[in-house]
Parts: sequence; structure tokens; C-alpha cells
Amino acid sequence: MRTKVAIIGSGPSGLLLGQLLSRAGIDNVIVDRASRGHILERVRAGVLEEGTVGLMELCGAAARLHAEALPHDGFSLAFNGQNHRIDLHGLTGKRVIVYGQTELTRDLMEQRQQDGAQTVYEAEEVEPHGFDGEKPLVTYRRDGVTRRIDCDFIAGCDGFHGVSRKSVPEKSIATFERVYPFGWLGILAEVPPVGHELIYAQHERGFALCSMRSATRSRYYIQCPLDEKLETWPDDRFWNELRRRLPPRDAERLQTGPAFEKSIAPLRSFVAEPMRFGRLFLVGDAAHIVPPTGAKGLNLAASDVHYLFSGLREFYAENSTAGIDAYSAKALSRVWKAVRFSWSMTMLMHEFPEVGPFGRKMQEAELAYLVQSRAASTVLAENYVGLPL
Ligand SMILES: Cc1cc2nc3c(=O)[nH]c(=O)nc-3n(C[C@H](O)[C@H](O)[C@H](O)COP(=O)(O)OP(=O)(O)OC[C@H]3O[C@@H](n4cnc5c(N)ncnc54)[C@H](O)[C@@H]3O)c2cc1C
Repeated sequence: MRTKVAIIGSGPSGLLLGQLLSRAGIDNVIVDRASRGHILERVRAGVLEEGTVGLMELCGAAARLHAEALPHDGFSLAFNGQNHRIDLHGLTGKRVIVYGQTELTRDLMEQRQQDGAQTVYEAEEVEPHGFDGEKPLVTYRRDGVTRRIDCDFIAGCDGFHGVSRKSVPEKSIATFERVYPFGWLGILAEVPPVGHELIYAQHERGFALCSMRSATRSRYYIQCPLDEKLETWPDDRFWNELRRRLPPRDAERLQTGPAFEKSIAPLRSFVAEPMRFGRLFLVGDAAHIVPPTGAKGLNLAASDVHYLFSGLREFYAENSTAGIDAYSAKALSRVWKAVRFSWSMTMLMHEFPEVGPFGRKMQEAELAYLVQSRAASTVLAENYVGLPL
């Protein structure tokens, strides 16, 4: 088969890019190794920047999001037993939108299907080839048969463990990484959230996050050791531990119930440079990972898509390579700022035993400064709602 852009990966970045290209009349095919059902079961991000919502609108896939998503004008930092609200809207004029990644993915998949664009699920041995020349292609196996997609460009939207980044010769790529010595144990439960805004809690027992997916569905996380086993965390143990890490008023209000999803996510900061190799572009988690503390991963994937889509549209409409030539530098400039923010939130909010009592005092002083100084709160808020594209 032949298309203009072959997209590897049907996560948020692949689906957003595919949808924008289709709407602009640029033919594309998405290939994913997973099934549609498996992709929709992955519970991940929940906080969207306004820029990400804007892209969903351009995709023609924002109707349900506008009807069901929860706009948030602020969030709380909790420490020393008290909540301190960061007034996002008052400080920046912007807000964030709470809408599950699963729902965003479903909306994009359905819109893509309605628009008649092609996606191949459960493709095995997906591989990009020839991207250093003029005639790249992607091969994959389906139903025991090897197939090929000839294309003009390949978008590697296949996440951190995907094949795209690994296909680049080692000498052509530089990587930067920090692996944190803990993970997040997260649950989803059909109970009303403890508050109507997110609470990021710093505590000597470890970080906790109170988040939500709707007015009746809560998403809670606690920091845990990396080698923790899910079987050792029955629901009661999770709820008790979460309660201990929250300010007393929130702990009292916490409503508990059976968890219908429970998982442990490791935390990592990672960036690969550059993000373009000839006719292959890396997009989203394929090029960078941030710890979820700043709620930036999906939003960064969306901003990469914005830059790449602009470049590809310019290429096809004006026969100009200026946009695709600038893609890597533009995307990385925003990526590194989000990596810095996510890293600083992680360092501020988590328990790092190795830093000792001095390190804890530094965290407390920084938190106090953040909530007392309007200038410092504004810096935090500006990064949280998302830096300009
Ligand atoms: C617990 C958790 C909480 C998070 N919270 C937030 C948050 O609040 N806000 C936020 O912005 N971000 C958050 N994130 C990050 C966010 O989920 C990711 O950044 C986002 O999914 C990136 O999208 P992507 O499309 O680039 O990659 P992915 O979602 O990883 O999609 C990649 C796709 O490629 C496919 N694929 C992989 N390998 C291959 C292959 N070899 N061949 C073919 N296909 C392949 C996969 O099946 C998948 O469908 C969170 C992540 C986690 C784990």
C-alpha cells in the first residue's frame, strides 16, 4: 500500500497527528502492534492543557470532551497538614481540563473511523526502513503475511518502548536520562473525589496525589518503592496509607470503595535528541518521558504533534521544507522546559531518603515560598497550565 505519512503507534500522539493530517487532506495510515481494546484499557493521563484541547477541536473530536470534561481553575499543594490553593486561573488567565486519556483516545479512534482513515491494529514486527533516503517504508506482519507501506514520511509515535527510536543508529542520537528510585501506585475507584480540585501532597511517608476522572470516579496515587508488589496492596492498605499522607480535613472527607484498576508506574525523565532523522520523526513518548508529577506527558505529545503537523501541512501545501526542518529544534525547546518543570515538581514533592533532614528542610522552605510569593506561584501556575506553543 502507499500513503503520504505512515504513523507507527495509535496512542494519543499517533491518533492526534493522523486526525489532523486527514482533516487537512493528507493521506496517512496508522499501524499499532496492540489491539484497539488493549489501547483503550490503558489508564494513564488525566490533565489536559488548553492547547491540547485546541488540537482535539481541530481534529473534530472534542464534542464529548466539552460535554463531560471538568475544567479546573486551580489545584492544591498540601504539606505540614495544610492545603494551599494555587489559583491557576487568577494567576495566568488559563485553566486545565480533567479528561481521561482513555476517553480522549476513544474519541479520536471513533472520529478516525467515521472519517474513513485507515488503522492497522495487532500488526506484528513493525519496522521503519529507508528513512535516511527519499523512499522510506514501513513493514509489518499481519495474519502471517509480511506487508509494506510505502510513504513520504514516517512518524514514530510508538511510545518509550517502541521500535522507531531503536531503529536510529546509536551514533546519530543522544539520550539524557534520570530514573527515580520509586514509583507511583495508582488506583481507580468509583467514589466521588475527595475535593473538586487535584491535591498534590508532600509527606514524610511519601508523596500522594488525589485526582479524578469525573464527579463520581477518583484516581489516587501514592509514592511507593520500585520493587513493591501489587499483591501486597489490598484496597484497605492503600486507603489507610493515602489517608495518612493527606491533611486531616481531606483524610476525614476521603470516601473509599473497591479499586477496579490498580497499577505501579516507574518514574523517569528521558529525552532523545534530535527528534528527526531524515524522513523519520519521533513524536511524544517515543522521544521523551517525564514523571507524571507535572501532568505533562500527554500534553508534550500534543505539542510535538502541533509542530510536526504544521511542518507537514506546509510541505504538502507550499512545497516548503522549512517547517519540517525546524520540527526537532522547536519541539525540543518546549520539551526541555517541561522536563525541567516535571523534574522540579518531582524533587519538591517526593520523599528522597538519601537527602536526609537537610533535604526535607529545603523542600519545606521551597513549598512555603511557592505558596507565599505571588511571583513564585505564578511561575508554578504558568508551567502547570502549559507554556505557549
Ligand atoms: C500513570 C501515568 C500517569 C500519567 N499522567 C499524565 C497526566 O496527568 N498528564 C499527562 O499529560 N501525561 C500523563 N502521563 C503520560 C502519558 O500517558 C503519555 O505521555 C502519553 O500516553 C504519550 O502518548 P504517545 O502516543 O506518545 O505514546 P503511547 O501512549 O505510549 O502510545 C504508543 C503506541 O505505540 C504502540 N507501539 C509501541 N511499540 C510499538 C511497535 N513496536 N510497533 C507498533 N506499535 C507500537 C503502543 O501499542 C501504543 O498504542 C501519564 C503516564 C502514566 C504511566
